[in-house]
Amino acid sequence: MHKKYLFSESRMAWINNKYRGASGCVFCSLAKGDMDENKILHRDKELLVLMNIFPYNTGHLQVLPLRHVKTFEELTDKEVASLFVMVKKCVRLLSKVLKPDGFNIGVNIGGDVAGASISHLHIHIVPRFRGDIGFMESVADTKVVPQTLEQIFRKLKKEAGMLK
Ligand SMILES: [Zn+2]
Repeated sequence: MHKKYLFSESRMAWINNKYRGASGCVFCSLAKGDMDENKILHRDKELLVLMNIFPYNTGHLQVLPLRHVKTFEELTDKEVASLFVMVKKCVRLLSKVLKPDGFNIGVNIGGDVAGASISHLHIHIVPRFRGDIGFMESVADTKVVPQTLEQIFRKLKKEAGMLK
């Protein structure tokens, strides 16, 4: 039962098949593509910030290294630092734009057993709002996100300078 996991990625299965590039990794192939089309808010030499197109909640972001890394041990100390500084900046950005009441931040490592459908390491940042409690356990697959992904992307993109 995938719902046991806080950060279930079962819905990513199809996109994994649809967008898997020559590299065989959906994130490696998205990273090289168009920023707006792929809902990328920030890209630099080391990392990428993009919206989850199947958000668990409004404003769900993902931070990942550009390098195809599967585990924490493979990350350099510098990459770990850069990734978590970026997580902090994302929290700041989301706090400003969406004013959530809290956040869930997490990483799935170890493939299926950990609920990760994409092996390329990525950190989930999920804003939480008073009143959304329980949705992940009960209606995660039918959650109606009050604003469209495109609307939220536009709002966040306006402030994406905060991620630099
Ligand atoms: Zn990859």
